[in-house]
Amino acid sequence: KFRVRFAPSPTGPFHIGGARSALFNYLIAKHEGGDFIVRIEDTDRKRSTGESEENIKEALRWLGISWDEGIDVGGSHGPYRQTERLDIYKQYTDRLLAEGKAYYCFCTPEELEAQKRAQMDQGETPVYTGTCRDLPPETVQAYLAAGRPYVIRIKTPRNETLAFDDLVRGHVSFDSNKVGDFVIVKSDGIPVYNYCVVLDDALMDITHVIRAEEHLSNTPRQLVLYKALGFQAPTFAHVSLILGKDKKKMSKRHGATSVQQYRDLGYLPEAIINFLSLLGWTPGTEQEIFSRDELIRQFTLARVAKNPAVFDIEKLNWINFHYMKQLTEDELLALCLPHLQNAGYVSGTLTPERREWVKQVVAALRDHVQYGAQIAAVSKVFFTEEYAPENEEAAAVLQEETAQPVLTCFAQELQALPEVTAATVQPLFKKVQKQVGVKGKFVYMPIRVALTGVMHGPDLHVIVALMGREKVLARLARSGS
Ligand code: GLU
Repeated sequence: KFRVRFAPSPTGPFHIGGARSALFNYLIAKHEGGDFIVRIEDTDRKRSTGESEENIKEALRWLGISWDEGIDVGGSHGPYRQTERLDIYKQYTDRLLAEGKAYYCFCTPEELEAQKRAQMDQGETPVYTGTCRDLPPETVQAYLAAGRPYVIRIKTPRNETLAFDDLVRGHVSFDSNKVGDFVIVKSDGIPVYNYCVVLDDALMDITHVIRAEEHLSNTPRQLVLYKALGFQAPTFAHVSLILGKDKKKMSKRHGATSVQQYRDLGYLPEAIINFLSLLGWTPGTEQEIFSRDELIRQFTLARVAKNPAVFDIEKLNWINFHYMKQLTEDELLALCLPHLQNAGYVSGTLTPERREWVKQVVAALRDHVQYGAQIAAVSKVFFTEEYAPENEEAAAVLQEETAQPVLTCFAQELQALPEVTAATVQPLFKKVQKQVGVKGKFVYMPIRVALTGVMHGPDLHVIVALMGREKVLARLARSGS
């Protein structure tokens, strides 16, 4: 049966690259009707935290990436957290030692450092020279009895080519002499990532390992271990790195890098999923918007590209805007409200009337917001008096000869209205046009700039209705009418 896994190390914020790996595994599992497993790789105890594991799970749930087996949900191949599997690793280590496939190494850090330096001085790749590879058993016993610190190394075959066919990268090969006898259990008794990952993938019957390209160089080591342990290696697919627009590896300099940050900025999970799916996968058509079901139907590893994926925030914003269009006014309010609160525009519990008004404001601005956090800047003019013409061009609008007559006329007409609603305000602009004798933008622009300071935005009659008569008259007056 087709079985894949996502195996995050809970050592920090949940990076979008990790989310992409999780998504690709999830999509291909669904596509193939297989199993998707989530396992936690927490043997780096200094850097692993429970909080980070919680963040990862929460982010996966928020994205709607569910798993069939693994942490929290359980399954027949558990436990699914590496620190709970230490006795399993120990069994296999004992076996490797007994079979002479692994050995104790007593070299001190100073000795190793000196070896390494000597190799580097010769221009060679530093690999372990094999000092302890063939120590006589009596010596080993004596050292162990004396309590000498040790690591355990695997015997890597010499003069071999370690090769595999990667579903994304094609045929890949490494020289085993450049791999050398590497450490599988550290001096504190904790097995290393390369070793645990092989045992877990093998014992969990993983058929396909889909992960980031940065792990490609680990794969030859893992192949050595599969062979030594007598397991068949899975099929590998190493997905290209995610680069920023400057073609450098995606990092904090490029903006938000974690899933939580995007959630907190008011992006929608469907948009993130859609966007991440296109980071390295191509449908082979022009289609850019995909529902989850479409992704599951269309996703194959054959269409995962070898060249790096470029993280284009404008594309994400465009996709998010697309999904935001589908929100009801209440959903839109829910997405935007935290950002209005952060900006200090609304606070506490809203009265039903106030809530309705805020909802109308947000709805009126929806074409100008690509993600939740943007609501603060565009709605500012409705919540504070701190606004002014945004630039010289806007300021110049109010200097037009006909600007003042337009503002005065509009103020008079508005004052005369029995009731101010979008519908009653709409006809006023025609009246102003007739009375002042100017048309189009000469009517709209001065009013718009006087009320909002900017030259674009929602329909003017909607703005006027939302601001209400009093505030509009005050702003018209402030602009000199
Ligand atoms: N724990 C590794 C990571 O977070 C995953 C490695 C793998 O998928 O084999 O990068």
